[in-house]
Amino acid sequence: MDYKSEMKTLRDILNEAGYRYYVLDDPTMDDYRYDQLLRRLEELEAAHPEEITPDSPTQRVGGTALESFTQVEHSVPLESLQDVFSPEEVEEFAQRMEEALETVRYSVEPKVDGLSVALEYRDGLFVQGATRGDGRTGEDVTENLRTIKSIPMTLPDKLPRLIVRGEVFMPKNVFHKLNRQREDNGEPPFANPRNAAAGSLRQLDPKICAKRLLDIRVFNLQLAEGKTFATHTETICYIASQGFQTIPHKELNTAEELNAEITRLGEKRDEFPFDMDGAVVKVNSLSDRSVIGSTAKCPRWAIAYKYPPERRPSRVLDIVVQVGRTGVLTPKVVVEPVRLAGTTVTNATLHNQDFIDEKDIRVGDTVVLQKAGEIIPEVVEVCKELRPEGARPYRLPDACPVCGAAVVRDEDGAALRCTGAECPAQLHRNLTHFASRDAMDIDGMGPAVMRQLIDKGLVRTPADLYFLTENQLAELERMGKKSARNAVEAIAASKERGLERLLYALGIRQVGQKAGKTLAAQFGSFDALAQATEEELTAIDDVGGITAAYIRKWLDSPQSRHLISRLKEAGVCMDAARQSAGEQFKGMTFVLTGALEKFTRDEAAALIEARGGKASGSVSKKTAYVVAGENAGSKLRKANELGIPVLTEEEFAAMLE
Ligand code: AMP
Repeated sequence: MDYKSEMKTLRDILNEAGYRYYVLDDPTMDDYRYDQLLRRLEELEAAHPEEITPDSPTQRVGGTALESFTQVEHSVPLESLQDVFSPEEVEEFAQRMEEALETVRYSVEPKVDGLSVALEYRDGLFVQGATRGDGRTGEDVTENLRTIKSIPMTLPDKLPRLIVRGEVFMPKNVFHKLNRQREDNGEPPFANPRNAAAGSLRQLDPKICAKRLLDIRVFNLQLAEGKTFATHTETICYIASQGFQTIPHKELNTAEELNAEITRLGEKRDEFPFDMDGAVVKVNSLSDRSVIGSTAKCPRWAIAYKYPPERRPSRVLDIVVQVGRTGVLTPKVVVEPVRLAGTTVTNATLHNQDFIDEKDIRVGDTVVLQKAGEIIPEVVEVCKELRPEGARPYRLPDACPVCGAAVVRDEDGAALRCTGAECPAQLHRNLTHFASRDAMDIDGMGPAVMRQLIDKGLVRTPADLYFLTENQLAELERMGKKSARNAVEAIAASKERGLERLLYALGIRQVGQKAGKTLAAQFGSFDALAQATEEELTAIDDVGGITAAYIRKWLDSPQSRHLISRLKEAGVCMDAARQSAGEQFKGMTFVLTGALEKFTRDEAAALIEARGGKASGSVSKKTAYVVAGENAGSKLRKANELGIPVLTEEEFAAMLE
């Protein structure tokens, strides 16, 4: 087969597999095979870039970020919907329709709480996608929409022009995962999936949008040149036949049936991957729709029924405090299990002390619960008349319920935060921060590795990293012997980062990189800093009173003292001086081979890195020196082949001095 035909075949196979996976939810090809074929296509495209077509699965994430979005005028306006809030209003709507039309058939479907977009195809090819904007003009988000795998890039029918309208959303499971990640990274979580989807679709860099795993449900045919349809059902069937994921709908005849279906959908709403903020009732016949017509903003032939937030009473069994990954204490009520908007609720957030005080919530109280934004249950009010005798006001604890360390109030006064340097609730975040590039810069020890180390009980504090063995690391998933060795070397090398980075790595509140630098320069050693009084700390430029208090509190806590003594035991540099000792090897890569006598490999690597160099496992043209010990083998040969200077152990030791 020539390369052109092979590329076409690969595109067709991969697009079909993608359709089965993302639209039909019925995968027919395993991920491994898919990736193999995709790689083959990428290779061919790299060799023949002139043959890359816009429908290639490789083109879903465009190359460069945009400066801004351009405006797009919608050929068919994206109308809004008239809201109704009660079964009676649904009946009134049906009455209006029945008065104007002889017989009416309706369709009822979930209202997806996302962002409306129009997708335009020319001759069967996806050419443009735009947000709703004000309904007449929106923003061109084509590149971001390409990243949504359930949007087909080509259609089987090559109509000159076809426009469909759908609702882009972030699946609920993706939303929860994203928010956990954001919390780990210290970023504010999104309030709900809708905000998360909106934030993602408005990213100027499609690569970021691609990571957000957005999805779409198409609910309307805006325009199909050369085609005619009689009903909504026909248009939706046609849209589905073209490879889109559509919103399921039901055809019904009477107001009574409409209300029953609305209730049924409301009870099912947890089962959908998207948030549902209502049910949409539409007249099904397209000619009937034109008889009824539209107002300036909304069609008169459709309504959106908005479900009232369901409210239920339940009894408060307990008030417990959770410690989040950033150390924030969040109080929650534990309530007698109660069904609420389709799920069983057993607890609800109380936000903070102010919220508890304002509502005066006590253990034993009967409270009214509702789901805010349909997701998170919250307390609306307390039924004071049902309060049992002796119920006492609740106060949040002064010590962290997980680790017992002191709790401080945030600068802005709202949140309470645990100060424990070894608090298990914050361990993952603390470890990831500790190892991060600007802190101790431990290569290969990212969030996934840290998670495994915690789960296996191998690491309880950042200091434990320094006591890990190669064998322990090699047993982790996706690690292997070689990366375990590299990790041990990287951990050992990080001992020499110096006080400035260490102070930042410890995660003391308000001590960022800048304060780390200032404090290291001022005190020169950790021990000198540990002696400083709050007044002395406050007197330093760039260290305010609040920061000084946080630092002093941190230094005084038994957990911090334990952490520091273990770091010292591990041999972590606690001085400012050693850190600046070397720019000597800056930009130089060393390869160690054979058996060294004076140092272990880890020590030698640490010494190189402390001087700004890098220790690598393989010889290349970029290697500066190979240090060859006893019985050096293939690396030494390679060095000689490439003409890389080779040092004996003695020469290397002399260089260090
Ligand atoms: P609103 O934004 O409250 O005026 O509600 C109207 C919006 O609901 C429309 O602009 C659509 O974006 C959205 N929507 C979600 N699901 C549907 C659906 N099944 N049918 C029509 N509109 C829908």
